Amino acid sequence: MTSISEADLLAKVPDSLFIGGEWVASTSGRSVDVHDPSTGLVIKTIADASVADAGLAMDAAADAQAAWAATAPRVRGELLRGAFDLLQERADEFALLMTLEMGKPLAEARGEVTYGGEFLRWFSEEAVRISGRYGANPEGTGRMIVTHLPVGPSFLITPWNFPLAMATRKIAPALAAGCTTIIKPAELTPLTTLYFARLLEDAGLPKGVVNVVTTSESKEVSAPIISDRRLRKLSFTGSTAVGQILLKQASENVLRTSMELGGNAPFIVFDDADLDKAIDGAMLAKFRNVGQACTAANRFIVHESVAEEFGTRLTEKVKAMSIGRGTEAGVTVGPLINDGAVDKADALVQDAVGRGATILTGGARVSGEGSFYEPTVVSGVIAGSAILREEIFGPVVTIISFTDEADAVAKANDTEYGLVSYVFTRDLARGQRLIETLQTGMMGLNVGVVSNAAAPFGGVKQSGIGREGGLEGIHEYLETKYVLTPDPFL
Ligand code: ADP
Repeated sequence: MTSISEADLLAKVPDSLFIGGEWVASTSGRSVDVHDPSTGLVIKTIADASVADAGLAMDAAADAQAAWAATAPRVRGELLRGAFDLLQERADEFALLMTLEMGKPLAEARGEVTYGGEFLRWFSEEAVRISGRYGANPEGTGRMIVTHLPVGPSFLITPWNFPLAMATRKIAPALAAGCTTIIKPAELTPLTTLYFARLLEDAGLPKGVVNVVTTSESKEVSAPIISDRRLRKLSFTGSTAVGQILLKQASENVLRTSMELGGNAPFIVFDDADLDKAIDGAMLAKFRNVGQACTAANRFIVHESVAEEFGTRLTEKVKAMSIGRGTEAGVTVGPLINDGAVDKADALVQDAVGRGATILTGGARVSGEGSFYEPTVVSGVIAGSAILREEIFGPVVTIISFTDEADAVAKANDTEYGLVSYVFTRDLARGQRLIETLQTGMMGLNVGVVSNAAAPFGGVKQSGIGREGGLEGIHEYLETKYVLTPDPFL
């Protein structure tokens, strides 16, 4: 249990924009409401930034860039480490805040504090490991120097499903690399980012290094930032449709981009798999965040000889899940983010059923207040069903069967997305083959969750460009500079 009350916590969260190290009202004078998806009630009203505010944030980030780039890597790293330590102290508050504005069960919100915090710790360590190379050119007439410099002011646009981790996964590498930032959180869950900016301020963040713009007009407010010649980088996590729009805008300004977009993860269970482990992995891969993750298993592709047993046993576990407000003890299925998300999940299930699929459990919205959908298992889904093509982003397991490895791979790759795949098999050689044949940027081999701050997160195909975390993550915010000097002995 957290010690702070909901009302006290919400009162501590800033309700204004964070620009140039100051908490300021929107020049528009407008405000925007934030809701609790488990009740539909307004929990806080915050500043709604205008285009003019976007300009002020851009000015602040540009003005702070040179000094931040010149700040010693050790100092940048220690700021992040200090933020990590403060986050541990405030872990309960951040967990509760995420549960309130996003709906995920408190235990999962605590897990996100751990995961999100690791980006601060990881990049505090990476800040001092930005290396280069020096050596003779092949002709022996000169020396080649390769070094890495901060890209420059970076615009970070984050989604609502992981309010803390998506912010730290972008802010931490940017700051470690020496880039200043403007972050625009999702309009549905802006409070965690505001409270995190307060934490950074408490950790000693210099003015203008992180600026937060909350707005109900994402498109209008983002466009002038993206087209500003002082901006050098755009990092986005969200839907592929919006990513494509942003890539077009970014091309006009020839921006460096990182795009973490949609997913349609296959979860393949072979007949030689340890079914107990596969079912445990399936529960994690599907129900973390109530299925609202781009890494969520979207299609369970199960060998025909074990498909029925897998479906039956998984259904037992799903039936035992407990729906409710994320703050209540024992709840494992919170609300979806809003009624639109419930409508979408339900439409996909009904389409599958209309084409002959069978509902093993669930399959309906929960009546009453809040945006709840029953945890659901649908089997025998036939090819062509929309649920196999689109991201469900809800607590719905979709099972199809396959005959042999080639069939499994063909079905798994039959999607425009390529973020992550999950494979359960005891056959090592098969596992190794699938590493190369599955078209995804990440793979869980006998595990149901892959996310880790020390690993490169990202996808191929329509799932995106670039990697966040790992050794790769900081390079998304670094430019490579090459210098040639004459042979010093000539
Ligand atoms: P989701 O489907 O997860 O809601 P979106 O792609 O719609 O994802 O949104 C992800 C983030 O992108 C949010 O912060 C949202 O406000 C922002 N966003 C949506 N459309 C635009 C746009 N045209 N320009 C800039 N940001 C946008």
